[in-house]
Amino acid sequence: MRRYWLALLIVPGLLAIAGLPGVAPERIPAGAAYADTNSNEVKRMPLTLPDLPYPYDALEPFLSAETLHLHHDKHHQAYVNGYNEAEAKLKAAREAGDFAAIRALCDALAFNYSGHLLHSIFWTNMKPGGGGEPSGDLAKQIAADFGSFATFKAEMIAAANSVQGSGWAVLAWQPLGQQLVVLQAEKHQNLAEWGVTPVLVLDVWEHAYYLQYQNRRPDFTKAFFEVVNWDDVAQRLAATQE
Ligand code: MN
Repeated sequence: MRRYWLALLIVPGLLAIAGLPGVAPERIPAGAAYADTNSNEVKRMPLTLPDLPYPYDALEPFLSAETLHLHHDKHHQAYVNGYNEAEAKLKAAREAGDFAAIRALCDALAFNYSGHLLHSIFWTNMKPGGGGEPSGDLAKQIAADFGSFATFKAEMIAAANSVQGSGWAVLAWQPLGQQLVVLQAEKHQNLAEWGVTPVLVLDVWEHAYYLQYQNRRPDFTKAFFEVVNWDDVAQRLAATQE
């Protein structure tokens, strides 16, 4: 039986990426579909929770093992489950020809898919022994678009610290302007720009830091930059500029 993977573009805005650069093909089932060439039926795998790319205590002392356990195993898993449940309800609605709940379903699909996608990037955006400054093409692009790394870092941290309620700061590639931009996303999907590709994301929901940093979000956003995996960010930018 021959199968081939089809990337799905389901959700708008910053989710307009057909897969995660650097993710091995065997992990693409999270959000991918395949066509069985022996039938006309297109089947889709449910989203699955990716493993952390390092041990839970690997980012100590900047991010505690307890925080990562809760954040990855409970919160990220909840977005995966929430998407799969909403998708099943949407399928049932289609079969019943009853779209009375479509607004709530669209909201649940966008929220949970966005949460899943951003967390999948967030985990690989960090590594033990990370931090410092990027080099190569990423460093040049940051300097071209922000003036300097220090200015970019200050802008990203200011964006993260001032997200109203729960959300993210996102460094994204904007193909129309051929530039890197810093965005805020409230919840996981509000205020996103359509068509950009996030390359560095910073989770500022309280669950990301409250156990360890309580209400001191600025201490957490500063600590994040001590564990950034700039090789991952550079790889994501290069992939989206191809
Ligand atoms: Mn989170």
